[in-house]
Amino acid sequence: MSETKVENLIILGGGPAGYTAALYASRANLDPLVIEGFQWGGQLQNTTDVENYPGYPDGIMGPEMMNEFRAQAERFGTRFITDDADRLELSDGGVQRIFLGEDEYVAKAVILAMGAEPRRLGIPGELELGGRGVSTCGVCDGAFFKGEDVAVIGGGDSAMEDSIFISKYADKLTSVHRRDEYRASRIMRDRAAERPNIEFKTPFVPEEFLAGDDGKLRAVRLRNADTDETEELEVGGAFVAIGHIPRSELVAEQVGTDEEGYVLTDGRSTRTDLDGVFAVGDLVDHTYRQAVTAAGTGCMGALDAEWYLRDTPPSPEAHWQRGGEPIEVAPGLGRG
Ligand code: NAP
Repeated sequence: MSETKVENLIILGGGPAGYTAALYASRANLDPLVIEGFQWGGQLQNTTDVENYPGYPDGIMGPEMMNEFRAQAERFGTRFITDDADRLELSDGGVQRIFLGEDEYVAKAVILAMGAEPRRLGIPGELELGGRGVSTCGVCDGAFFKGEDVAVIGGGDSAMEDSIFISKYADKLTSVHRRDEYRASRIMRDRAAERPNIEFKTPFVPEEFLAGDDGKLRAVRLRNADTDETEELEVGGAFVAIGHIPRSELVAEQVGTDEEGYVLTDGRSTRTDLDGVFAVGDLVDHTYRQAVTAAGTGCMGALDAEWYLRDTPPSPEAHWQRGGEPIEVAPGLGRG
């Protein structure tokens, strides 16, 4: 019989939500284990200056901020595994199993905090010029393009919202969309149209981001979807705002998700439809997707998990057992 230790709480994900959950859980003496991913830090690992996280009046670099989040959780005893989980076997109130290669980890509760990633166009220059003119976060990077000409790609609410925000800084903003019809709500489209420096360009499909001699973005090559003719739009910044993809592939068959793959939670809580499984951060959030909102839900997840563990005492029939093997109850949970 396996002698795998049953953890109180495993947190999957090393972004603002996961580390905040770990901070709260470790301060609640839950001794959490974070499986933070090989590329821990989440989307902030690809962000330069973060100027909109409260408490950093001079701004902070994204990776440095994630280092600090991680260090704060570590200070209270959080343990980390810097690797990606390969497979999860979630249960409704039983032990939760997480597999990393040959290794199996089991826990009484799990917080899913795997985040989301921006959808990419998949065109040449997009990744190469990331951080050198091409961005997927208007709220984060818009202010760096003061007085420049920029493009925002996409026809949904995110693209409109980014356009409205970035147009406060940019000189001229071209909103590029591949169709003449917009997915964005009427009100968002109207608000964008009211901005004097926003011009709409449809139906144009971005084909390539082009670098200048300085290695920074110089232009976007666009193809007119009606005529197939191509042209270059000269811009210093280009924002790709074509949606996000929640990183729920490991759990999508096991917990409730919506049609886009975002994990569903119960009301304003972080509870999924499985007892003992909680979900936080961008994995559940269509709308706000900010570091500060993700951190807030990470805190909620830790509190929900703590209350779940407190209110679900082990018994001889406890589903937290493994094949009849008694479990080791961690200290600090107030159970006799
Ligand atoms: P979205 O509604 O899915 O829109 C994505 C846009 O990107 C669509 O216009 C789509 O074009 C375009 N697109 C997708 N793949 C593309 C590609 N490969 N090349 C070029 N264009 C591509 O995503 P979203 O705008 O991020 O919004 C997501 C959800 O959040 C929505 O429910 C939205 O209402 C909500 N939201 C609300 C607000 C707000 O109300 N303030 C703000 C942000 C987001 P097609 O239309 O041709 O498919």
